[in-house]
Amino acid sequence: MARNHIRKHIDDHAEQAVLRLQKLCRQPSVSAQGVGLRECAELVRGLMVELGLHAELVSLKEGPPVVYGELRSQSSKRTLVFYNHYDVQPPDPLELWESDPWAAEIREGRVYARGAADNKANIVSRLAAIEAFLKTRGDLPCNIKFVVEGEEETGSPHFAEYIHQERSRLKGEGAIWEFGGLDYGDIPAVTLGLKGMLYVEFCVKTLAKDSHSARAAIVENPAWRLLRALGTLRDERGRVAIEGWYDDVRGFTPEELKALEKEPLQEEQLKSDLGISQFLAGMSGLELKKALAGNPTANIAGFYSGYIGEGHKTVLPAYAKAKMDFRLVPDQDPEALASLLRNHLKQRGFGDIQLAIQSENPAARTPLNSEIARIACDTAHEVFGAEPIVHVSSAGSGPMHLFTHTLKLPTVAIGCNHPYSNTHAPNENQRIDALISGTKWIAAVMERFGGKA
Ligand SMILES: [Zn+2]
Repeated sequence: MARNHIRKHIDDHAEQAVLRLQKLCRQPSVSAQGVGLRECAELVRGLMVELGLHAELVSLKEGPPVVYGELRSQSSKRTLVFYNHYDVQPPDPLELWESDPWAAEIREGRVYARGAADNKANIVSRLAAIEAFLKTRGDLPCNIKFVVEGEEETGSPHFAEYIHQERSRLKGEGAIWEFGGLDYGDIPAVTLGLKGMLYVEFCVKTLAKDSHSARAAIVENPAWRLLRALGTLRDERGRVAIEGWYDDVRGFTPEELKALEKEPLQEEQLKSDLGISQFLAGMSGLELKKALAGNPTANIAGFYSGYIGEGHKTVLPAYAKAKMDFRLVPDQDPEALASLLRNHLKQRGFGDIQLAIQSENPAARTPLNSEIARIACDTAHEVFGAEPIVHVSSAGSGPMHLFTHTLKLPTVAIGCNHPYSNTHAPNENQRIDALISGTKWIAAVMERFGGKA
């Protein structure tokens, strides 16, 4: 009965949630360009204060502020922490948008705007869940701490500093990550982890300046040298060929393997989307799902040397550069891997190659049998009437380890997202029905987490 009041409040105030989403979306907040960040942070803080949260902007040495809000429950001592971000990707290419990316136009039950789905709807949805409890009961079912950062889309460069600085007030028993919601077929999905990343730039310089390529007969070409070095890092099946790289890799538990087996993956659809005839090393089925969730990668993100303009230029380039992202899995340590990489190159006679580590993030994975994972799954069932899909890990990366490791908060990713929301792409949109059902899901999690339901 009490639960029905909460859901009714969420339904009855759908319009208000949409208005709040439009308000947030109409404030550009592009972290890559430093546009509108403080203004958007102020808006988020304003929404929190309006609901009665204690909210403030926390300044860091550099970068935009983090919005922090909290509200205590009078009936429960347990604390749930929300992580979100108010920054968005650049809206380009603008000509592919059907409406202005900052207009937040509503068409056919969707709000179209940059940042609508990623990640402003999830901010609004969590606030709407909080409001439903306060307005119907005058109390929250658990304590809430709300962390909303402004640099997620540029790799959260200052978020570790924030977490270390504020760790004493971020204590809690569980956390909800920024994204998540409905998967294909509108089945709810619970994601338990993210891969980590080691991002490295390589540079080889063999000459003081570009030279006539006639000298290739007597002078080492840096592009060849870098190609040979990179060629030693990975085998044809995609396995990283650096000694010790897999020593700390934690395999899947039997429960995680079971979840992977059940996870749907539209292989043929994915192949046709990507325009490929087969996956790496001919993988399929469970092997493919295990690779996405649990294989480390060594990806060349970019390679540059010499002349690639029109026509031909017979040049012996002075230098060659490459950028690589290595996706990491639990329990690989990016710092230790960076030194394995250096030693590997040195031992093979490539000690002259300069390495610059541009970012490093360990992976995070919350156990399937943790309380928050169980609650997320049970409540998904309750709200959507469907068995949720469990993603043991996203194939992507993010700073979730700061929650799971530094703050020791078991963390799951759920929310109000839906497939076809065009995140990071033109015509990003948020389905209004998913905003509302996702809000009910968050409310159900809060209730169960507080220990009263
Ligand atoms: Zn994003």
